[in-house]
Amino acid sequence: MSRFFSTRFSSLKPYVPGEQPRDTVYIKLNTNESPFPPEEAVIQAVREEADKLRLYPDPTGLKLREALADCYGFSADNYLLGNGSDEVLFLAILAFCDAEHPMVCPELSYGFYPVLADLCGIERKTVPLKDDFSLDPEGFLKEKGMIVLANPNAPTGIELPTDQIERMLRSDPDWLVLVDEAYVAFGAKSCLPLLTRYDNLLIVRTFSKSHSLAGARLGFAAGSPDVIRDMETVRNSFHPYNINRMTMAAGITALKNEEIFRQNAGIIIKNREMTREALQKMGCLVLPSKANFLFASPPDGRGEDWYRNLKAKGILVRWFADKKTAPFIRISIGTQEQMKAFLKASKEYIEEADHEKS
Ligand code: PMP
Repeated sequence: MSRFFSTRFSSLKPYVPGEQPRDTVYIKLNTNESPFPPEEAVIQAVREEADKLRLYPDPTGLKLREALADCYGFSADNYLLGNGSDEVLFLAILAFCDAEHPMVCPELSYGFYPVLADLCGIERKTVPLKDDFSLDPEGFLKEKGMIVLANPNAPTGIELPTDQIERMLRSDPDWLVLVDEAYVAFGAKSCLPLLTRYDNLLIVRTFSKSHSLAGARLGFAAGSPDVIRDMETVRNSFHPYNINRMTMAAGITALKNEEIFRQNAGIIIKNREMTREALQKMGCLVLPSKANFLFASPPDGRGEDWYRNLKAKGILVRWFADKKTAPFIRISIGTQEQMKAFLKASKEYIEEADHEKS
């Protein structure tokens, strides 16, 4: 730490993203990216935009917000764009949390939420998960603050039924409920239809997973025009040009090809279920996922050993060191070929671990 670093950040522990390896070529199942390349039309749109790079992009992102409205309903005023949904989350917390407005989030969820709360210096209340790792709606109803949750949750993949989210929205209309739907395309139900009834609902989505655009950095919020305007006030106070031209073009074109993304999500769901069944046959505990990943624990509960063994065989998955998560690994779902390679390596490992014991 330099002597210039602000003391308000001296104990900040930054978020640690999954590895992006530069050396070995891995079967990369660690950061929930799509295994499918972007559509040819998306790549073409990005190329065409490159010619205009001398000019700033539209700071209002109007065309893309209109495309979102065409695709998902509502109007452009209901949408805000972010440089990845991470930026959208940051904007929401900056805009709506402070000393009197704490954040209420699950004990185990996306690791960025607590980091953002600490960065913004706001209080964070955590709601314990149930024994089966599902979210406990009653726990949220007891707390006062802006609720921030992922649905499906990460890293478990477990879906919370939308009627439970509706209970939270109804319980106190003066508190916002932020639902991070990063993984909603893989079989869970979206809260978007609830926007017509609740102005305290804020939905956050990303193009990173289902739309094969993690590298473009594009996310968005959907909410009431007033809530979106507040977030725009904050955004325009630090990053008016947050979406670059190429990303804007990629997003607009991607939204014209929704059918392809639905088909890709269908393949991921099929591969996920195939992987889940095979892991369960090997004696693993696999949580019921509606996301593009599985959270699974081997028969001996040694998640770290499994992760390291796979890595040595050129397969990268994610392992989280916390007490609750340490028995598990998180496996992003890739192509059928990738999942077969993962299952083969896992079967070998589990059989070896079994022999060592006996
Ligand atoms: N929300 C959740 C639950 C996530 O897992 C992620 C990806 N790490 C994000 C948001 C952020 O995604 P991005 O910034 O790529 O849009």
